Amino acid sequence: KNKDVVYNFSAGPSMLPKEVLKKVQMELCNWKNSGKSIIEVSHRSQDFELVLEELEYNFRFLLNIPKNYKIIFCHGGARGQFSAIPLNLLGNYTNADYINSGHWSYAAAVESRKYCTPNIINIKNKCNKKILIFSMNDWKINSKSAYLHYCPNETIEGIAIHEEPNFENTVIVGDFSSTLLSRVIDVRKYGVIYASFQKNIGPSGTTVIIIREDLLHRSKSICPSILNYSKLLQSNSMFNTPTTFSIYVSNLVLKWIKKKGGLKEIEKKNQEKANLIYEMIDNTDFYVNNIIENNRSFMNVTFSISNHSLNHLFLKESYSFGLHCLKGHSIVGGFRASIYNSMPKKGIIKLIKFMKIFKKKYKK
Ligand code: PLP
Repeated sequence: KNKDVVYNFSAGPSMLPKEVLKKVQMELCNWKNSGKSIIEVSHRSQDFELVLEELEYNFRFLLNIPKNYKIIFCHGGARGQFSAIPLNLLGNYTNADYINSGHWSYAAAVESRKYCTPNIINIKNKCNKKILIFSMNDWKINSKSAYLHYCPNETIEGIAIHEEPNFENTVIVGDFSSTLLSRVIDVRKYGVIYASFQKNIGPSGTTVIIIREDLLHRSKSICPSILNYSKLLQSNSMFNTPTTFSIYVSNLVLKWIKKKGGLKEIEKKNQEKANLIYEMIDNTDFYVNNIIENNRSFMNVTFSISNHSLNHLFLKESYSFGLHCLKGHSIVGGFRASIYNSMPKKGIIKLIKFMKIFKKKYKK
């Protein structure tokens, strides 16, 4: 019976709401009774333009995005933004601050070296086997930097920075790839927010950029047109053919979030789901999570088993139990349960049930 329902804990592309998938299935071959599939219609058609408009409206509604912020949808994923950010924001500056809290924030800093000298600020420390993250007050930022880049949710390590930035006269850039739409944020604290879609937003392919309009005039002349924010905006995110399918599905996902009560409700549920797993882990020495409580991610729960020789069995048996994609990223090993908005509480309960059964079976 346990095999009946499969829960997908993949870090991305990840689970989407079942309701959304059913609607996509219904409309796939006959969108809006047009006799055509959504993936066959022109992005220049009025019907598709309406979808794009609606998607932008839904982002504005859910995140309460002020009027002086523009929204861009483009290709290239979050990695594309690792180049686009310096190319669009450096202007005449030669330095930028990059917070290093884990794999993705460091990767962004490394890419930026092609365009500037990053001031890499390490905020991770280890104390008594626990990973600690410095509070924002202790970040040593450089006043001569064009911007400060950080990643509020390190998808691989399961590290989150829940604090919101409060730096005066600094342009804050956030890689929100694995946290956008999972909780309430104050967009006004940021100059640029970007996220690729394949976690909380929809199918892979699209990246969203939310940018304060006064930052739109700092691009370098060498910036490729396809990454140039002003160009992308002038063409209404249609400088080249947009990722129509991903845009269509994500619009349905955003409508689903609205139906669920918006980000306040979603945030409550996400915290509750994650805390159930952390509580289970903390109540035993069989499973370990070594991140300080304040900086544990509500999106990616990472853990290991003290006895590493059981890793293979854990993955094999969890899969048979209907719990898929729990393998941790190869950089950190162990396990990772990615529990984005679409993961129902039932999936969490089933995971905890399995973890308890497994512990009982193998604990010496
Ligand atoms: N940044 C974060 C926080 C991520 O989680 C990922 C992918 O998992 C990336 C960047 C890279 O995203 P993409 O594959 O869309 O380039």
